[in-house]
Amino acid sequence: MEDDAKNTGKTQPSISTSRRKLLKSAGVATLGLVAAPDLLLSRVARADSRHPGDVPKKAVQYQDTPKGNQTCSNCRAFIPGPTPSAQGHCTIVAGKVSPQGWCSAWSKASS
Ligand code: SF4
Repeated sequence: MEDDAKNTGKTQPSISTSRRKLLKSAGVATLGLVAAPDLLLSRVARADSRHPGDVPKKAVQYQDTPKGNQTCSNCRAFIPGPTPSAQGHCTIVAGKVSPQGWCSAWSKASS
């Protein structure tokens, strides 16, 4: 059998090659998990761009109520509506958000 591979000139993938591929895939998957929070943070960092975001509310556990003293109105990503109590937008999350809302991407607005 070994001679067959030698005679045809074909090489068989070795176990170490498979292991290398597996480790490579695991590394890519791990990078994906690490990159996800980084992606959110980079979106928070760009909060001053003032353009409504596109992250689904569900992805950041958006709720229409505050979490403690954290609200959209004191988050750096909040784009206020026409009045203080009106719904506004967010530079991260898609759609309208309440000034009293909250999500897991909350980041304190600089004063
Ligand atoms: S708390 Fe979440 S939804 Fe509200 S403004 Fe901040 S990032 Fe946007």
